[in-house]
Order: sequence, then C-alpha cells, then structure tokens
Amino acid sequence: MLKLTNISTSYGKVRVLREVSLEVAENEIVALVGANGAGKSTMLNTISGIVNPTSGSIEFLGKRIDGMPPYDVLELGISQVPEGGKPFPDMTVRENLEMGAYSKKARKFMGESLERVFKTFPILKERGKQLARTLSGGQRQMLAMGRCLMSRPRLAMFDEPSYGLAPVVVGELFTFVQELRNQGIAILLVEQNIRHALETADRGYVLENGQIVLEGSSRDLLSNDHVRKAYLGI
Ligand code: ATP
Repeated sequence: MLKLTNISTSYGKVRVLREVSLEVAENEIVALVGANGAGKSTMLNTISGIVNPTSGSIEFLGKRIDGMPPYDVLELGISQVPEGGKPFPDMTVRENLEMGAYSKKARKFMGESLERVFKTFPILKERGKQLARTLSGGQRQMLAMGRCLMSRPRLAMFDEPSYGLAPVVVGELFTFVQELRNQGIAILLVEQNIRHALETADRGYVLENGQIVLEGSSRDLLSNDHVRKAYLGI
C-alpha cells in the first residue's frame, strides 16, 4: 500500500533521514520505533508531504506521492495525527471532528463518519459540546484519532499517541488502534514506547540516527538482543 524507497530528507544542510526504505501493506499495523531525535516525526512529515525528501521515492496505492502537497496526499487517503493530537482547543469536540472531514471526498460522508466515530469512541459523543481544551490527555488523543477517522483514511499515521499519558490510558489507546485496523485502516505507528508499540503492531522498523537498523515481525524484534538491551532495558 505504502512504499518508501531510499528516502533521504534534510533540513537545510542537515540530513535527518538517510536512504530509508519502509513498507506498509493493506490492513497492517506497522510500528516505527526509535529514540528521541531519531527522525521518526520527520519520516511521517515526509510521507504526508509537509517536508519534501531530497532523494528517493514514495508510492501510495501504486501512485508516486513524493513532492505532492499535503492536501493532495490527504485526499488520496493518508491522514496523520501529530504528536499530542493537537486538537483546536477553542472549538468543541464535535466541531473538531467536523474539521476532520474538510477534504472534498470526506465532506460527502460527514454524517456517516460521525456515527462511526461516536460508535468507536462513545466518550466523544458524551463530550460533543465541550471545548477540546477541557478534555483529559487521553480524551484529546481519542479526539485526534476521531478527527483522523473523519477524513476517511486508508492509512492512518499516529505520532507518539502514548506521549504523556498514564499507563492505563495507553493500554486503552492501543486497543483503539487495533479497532481501527479492524475497520480496514492500515496504521503506521510512531512510538518511543517500544514494548507497547511492538505488542500492538504486526511488524516493526527500528530507526537510529535517521537509518533503519532493524526490521522484522514484532515478535522477532521483541526478542532481538539489540532491542532488548537498548530499548527494553532487559
Ligand atoms: P521526537 O520523538 O523527539 O519527536 P523524532 O524521532 O520524531 O524525535 P524528529 O522530530 O524527526 O525526530 O527530529 C530528527 C532531527 O531533526 C532532530 O535532530 C531535530 O532536531 C531535527 N529537526 C526536526 N524538525 C526540524 C526542523 N523543522 N528544522 C530543523 N531541524 C529539525
């Protein structure tokens, strides 16, 4: 579904991604894990067109998307949830969700999408009239995921959904990630919470200093010596 081949991305003279190749198949959950500053957010921003790669190619559903503006990438079915979810704080929960259906394709399905979001995240229906700023951290992440669903994505990319949340809330959020996959959406999950991410995903990639150093099934990565020592502290 998504295929990155030898992607390099720089900010000015500083190269952050170095010849990265990665794939996500239909209906797959893929984790991209790595330490602070490894280049994970840059990878998502490169896929969604916020940053242009300096070399390499990105294909989505057989079409080249590198160099495309973000609104066209979204229209094709890739939706990104930024770190912290970043809802519009002074808009209500419902208005935030409606903003998610801004694209041409999504606007037509607004009513149906809202029902689907409320069924997946009942708390968002309960809090529909509340301002987003009044939500807890976990609820904000749910709102951000709901807003992403409103755009009718084929592929959803989540940037550190667990960041700053209590462990019990993190477990609940990762259950939602699996629920979205059950609804037919492929997921690219960026995380520093490596154990949780790999326990949720089918496959994973480990990014260090802008390069993929390991890839494989989640089970293989969880038992890999380097992953255990460097990331799981075992
Ligand atoms: P984090 O978990 O901290 O977000 P990350 O793995 O997502 O880390 P990136 O945010 O992609 O990493 O950052 C990778 C490197 O690129 C870092 O050294 C960062 O300082 C640098 N960087 C990120 N965004 C920019 C930018 N807009 N301009 C210049 N440098 C940037």
